[in-house]
Amino acid sequence: MPVIAVVGGHWGDEGKGKLVDFLAERAKLVVRANGGRNAGHTVVAGGREYHFHLIPSGMLYPNVTCVIGPGVVMDPIKLLEELDELAERGVDTRNLLISDRTHLVLPYHLELDRLNEQRRGDDRHGTTGNGIAPAYTDKWARNGIRAIDLLDEELFRAKYQQAVGEKNRLFRAFYGVPTVSTEPGLSQLLQAAARLRPYIGDTNAAIQGALARGELIVLEGGQAALLDVDHGTYPYISSSSSSAGLCLGAGIPPNRVDRVFGVFKAYNSRVGSGPFPTELHGALAEHIRERGKEYGTTTGRPRRIGWFDAVAGRYAVEVNGIDRVFLTCPDVLDDQPGVKICTGYEIDGKTVDTFPASVEALARCTPVYEDQPPFGPIAGARTFGELTPNAQSYVRRIEQLLGVPITIIGTGQGRDDTIVREDPLARERVTV
Ligand code: GDP
Repeated sequence: MPVIAVVGGHWGDEGKGKLVDFLAERAKLVVRANGGRNAGHTVVAGGREYHFHLIPSGMLYPNVTCVIGPGVVMDPIKLLEELDELAERGVDTRNLLISDRTHLVLPYHLELDRLNEQRRGDDRHGTTGNGIAPAYTDKWARNGIRAIDLLDEELFRAKYQQAVGEKNRLFRAFYGVPTVSTEPGLSQLLQAAARLRPYIGDTNAAIQGALARGELIVLEGGQAALLDVDHGTYPYISSSSSSAGLCLGAGIPPNRVDRVFGVFKAYNSRVGSGPFPTELHGALAEHIRERGKEYGTTTGRPRRIGWFDAVAGRYAVEVNGIDRVFLTCPDVLDDQPGVKICTGYEIDGKTVDTFPASVEALARCTPVYEDQPPFGPIAGARTFGELTPNAQSYVRRIEQLLGVPITIIGTGQGRDDTIVREDPLARERVTV
């Protein structure tokens, strides 16, 4: 079982960090394959809470090599801040390896992100403002600057100055704003480059070596299925592709991936703008948000809350080839007098169970709900048998609607608040 991919099942923040940390205990490599520092993965271990943005969530294990893959866009200054914060908390970050092919997020990308959101006005996408989409735009337009360029100071200086010159023409002509100077950004970037140099190299050798030895590689998705650039709620999406994108972004051939784990929360959340058919408002949303600590790991923004959307979830399973599910946070719902699952949408007088492509159509969808009885207390349960019968039925119903076994269940934030129904490395299903 050498390669397990981890993808978010809905709109992100499902708990991918917890699953990656759980799998990392037996892994050789954990590879962040896409996205940028907008990702905020939380791991709670030994009573302490850690937040990972660009650094893979396997970093708490000293024997794991954590790889930032070619598909990531990396802000060198922010990466250093993250490394320093982890070091201050006693985390050994020596085993970080950054692909020399990784594209860089540079100061003008942050400025472009801000200007684009400003230009959109009421239609803003609610990006995290970390320059991710402008960096990917430059990558696909063949204007990107990569980590390998940080290895040669003169080359980097020349490329950066040329890029700033071009962006300044854009700032003046299109956005009508003053230009930015190459300083002080350049000197800060050169200092960052000097510190990051030892981490930058050819990640392919590490990946091929682990594949050849049959060691466990965990592919960590930065975003989620419904934020996928092709299959998500366009244009309210990220710049990344989910399970297939993880292969590209890591440099692992698709036929080497053995398992795709989808991480689904027992309810839904979404941060930023965009359609969200099962969204709840008022006191109920507020209550779940507080209990689930639903505030952005990177931005602190309150997350929008909704009931579990099985229509969107099944679409995510199909498009990503999800064959196992980690269900998180049922404990957050265990004080509810009852819960709901969305099994279809009513739109324009019809009931459908497929996920529409257009955001206008999604906005017209009214969820068709199925009522589920209250779970009763389940927080901290460690075996499936310790869940109340109603919570067990909820898990089975979601399993049925998604069409995939739920083999791991979270019952709290901590590492130990986990029910394992099947060994994630087993080739055959053993206990479900
Ligand atoms: P990610 O971006 O997908 O890794 O998710 P985040 O880390 O942004 O958000 C998930 C939040 O849920 C974090 O605070 C986790 O510690 C927390 N979490 C994960 N699994 C569970 C669970 O089973 N129960 C509870 N109560 N919290 C969980």
